[in-house]
Amino acid sequence: MKLIFLGPPGAGKGTQAAGVSAHLGVPHISTGDMFRSAIRNQTPTGLEAKRYMDAGELVPDSVVIAMVRERMAMDDARNGYLLDGFPRTVDQAIALDEIAAPDAVVDIDVPDERLLSRLTGRRVCGKCQGTFHISKLADEHTCPICGGALYQREDDQPETIATRLKAYHEQTEPLIGYYSGLGKLRRVNGDSKLEDVFKAILATLE
Ligand code: AMP
Repeated sequence: MKLIFLGPPGAGKGTQAAGVSAHLGVPHISTGDMFRSAIRNQTPTGLEAKRYMDAGELVPDSVVIAMVRERMAMDDARNGYLLDGFPRTVDQAIALDEIAAPDAVVDIDVPDERLLSRLTGRRVCGKCQGTFHISKLADEHTCPICGGALYQREDDQPETIATRLKAYHEQTEPLIGYYSGLGKLRRVNGDSKLEDVFKAILATLE
């Protein structure tokens, strides 16, 4: 199955994508994770992407599309994928339709007023890349899964979050109309318990 998870930053796309991709047996492809890894490895793509990411802005379409095109050519993506964080603009969606059009698009809906606390309280494990909220952690510095050190993403600072939400509303939200017009959109309420959102996603894909 070829699947896209849409939704604002902090909607829980990454967390849900990890569970749903394992359930469906398709690779979880997160463009944000790919950029963060490129930055750690100091590749030309990472160096180019970093200034946009730090500012909370979208990386230019040409850079993202080239990276996704390369990733989609790999063997494991041949029989399906779960894209998390891509496409984020209509031009990216048009490019994806040419590379390998999705079967379904799940929009994980969370109101803006809930996103700020979700994002400022988010912590990521530097070792296993798991994502957690401080309200659920006994020790906010240590990963409860693998024991790795948790850190706060630079773009999860309140000033940057405002820019990211603006980019979402202006550049990514139009994709809801784009995929709805193609009859591929499924909407799920993301403002609920993790397990309930997971079940709702699977139900909508049946
Ligand atoms: P994410 O981890 O999905 O929240 O992405 C973190 C940052 O990476 C975003 O704020 C953008 O700067 C950049 N990014 C990730 N995916 C894309 C994309 N499809 N288009 C443009 N920029 C992206």
